[in-house]
Order: sequence, then structure tokens, then C-alpha cells
Amino acid sequence: MTPDIKPFVAGNWKMNGERDQLDQIALTARGVDEELAAKTGVCLCPPATLLYVATTLSEDTSLMVGAQDCHPEKEGAHTGDVSAEMIADCFATHCIVGHSERRTDHGETDETVLRKTLACHRAGLTAIVCIGETEAEYDAGEAEAVLARQLTHGVPESTNEHNTIIAYEPVWAIGTGKTPSPDDIATIHAFIRERLAERLGGPGERMRILYGGSVKPGNAAELLSVNNVDGALVGGASLKAEDFLAICETYRGV
Ligand code: PEP
Repeated sequence: MTPDIKPFVAGNWKMNGERDQLDQIALTARGVDEELAAKTGVCLCPPATLLYVATTLSEDTSLMVGAQDCHPEKEGAHTGDVSAEMIADCFATHCIVGHSERRTDHGETDETVLRKTLACHRAGLTAIVCIGETEAEYDAGEAEAVLARQLTHGVPESTNEHNTIIAYEPVWAIGTGKTPSPDDIATIHAFIRERLAERLGGPGERMRILYGGSVKPGNAAELLSVNNVDGALVGGASLKAEDFLAICETYRGV
């Protein structure tokens, strides 16, 4: 945790979830009571097909809803894409950009991530910008260089603690059950904090830096207590309300 920064826990459903899983969104919304919401922000990012119904289900609750990606442009001839404005029109408030699965599956570059982050800001969404090194980069001792590059080229100058959240997700920890040690996470998050502060000043010092990669109810307390870890981006464990809420509950007593 970082003193004076309210944590944030986001759940990324990826390409999972149909109408018969809507009860998990309703259950999650019910579990985020006022006391918990005072301690941490909680946001679910279902697939685009469920976005509008998700915001309807979470209306009048403290659960926030986000999308998993957006197109950089406002509108136009981009078959199959969804703009940040369309996401905001569904009453969603957040949008993940630059997830490693999009960088890998869709060839997204730091420049794409920058444009998408700007699109989020344009539409009034908070961008959850994912950064992280691959296993090969980690093994080659290049993690910090990769993260510095992603932060410099993928995060716009207009970024601040209100319009952007950073999620550090080592690619080799996503969906694998492997996680870096708490000491390694502390070192990397301190490095990210320094880069953000150097580049953005005060807003960089106040921005939330989430950890993502195999966060589960069983390891959440240990991972989320690390210095400069201001919450989590959760994949698999966010699909079940019980598991996701158990992770969020880490912050209730803090
Ligand atoms: C993710 O996809 O952002 C993620 C962290 O996945 P998991 O929690 O399943 O590793």
C-alpha cells in the first residue's frame, strides 16, 4: 500500500461471461458495501456484450464497471471495434488498455496504447494502463528497461491520478499461478513509482499502481500489503463473486 492512496481492485473477465453469469455481477455489486467501498475502489470489467447490463445491475451500488479495450477513434469505419465514447455511453467509468493479451494477440504497440489512453481521457474514462515484461525479458534482466519504455511511450503527458491507473502485470505471471516474490514486486513497483514521479511530478506520486498476475484469495493479503502496491488487477479469480470479493475484503480491515 502507499500512504494516502486509496486502493483499487479491478476484475478482468477477458473473453468470459454470458448472460447466465450475470448473477456473479449482481453478487459482486451486493458485496461491495459502503464500508468496503470507503476502503477500496472495486471495478468489474466484463466483455463488451455485458457492459450495459453490468452498469444497470450495479446502479445504486458502489461497484464500478469498466471495459477491457477501446478503439483510439471516436467513431467511424472500424468494424467490430468499440470507442471510448461508446463505453462511457454505457455508463462505464473505466477501461483497460494495453493488456498483454492485446499486445500479443493484436500487435498493439506502445503507440497504440498511448492513443487508446488518450481516447479514454477524451471520453472521461479512467484508463487502466497495463505494463509488464515477458518471461524472456525477465530472464534477460530487461524488466526495468521494458517497463521504462512502456511508461515513456505508452503513457501521455496529460496522465494524472484521476484519469489513469497503472497495472504492473508480469506477462509470465498472468494465468500461470506463478507470482514474483513480494520483494521483487516491491522493487519493481518502487521503480515504476520513481519513473511516474520523475515524468509527471505530483500526479505520478499519487497514481495507483496495481499488481496483476495470479492474484487469488489465498495470496492477496501478502501481495497487496507490499509497498507501492495500490490494489490488484485480477483475471481468473474475478469470475466468481465469492473469490473476487474475498480479494477485495483484504482492504476492509486496513
Ligand atoms: C489479467 O488477465 O490481467 C490477470 C492478471 O489474469 P490472472 O489473474 O488470471 O493471472
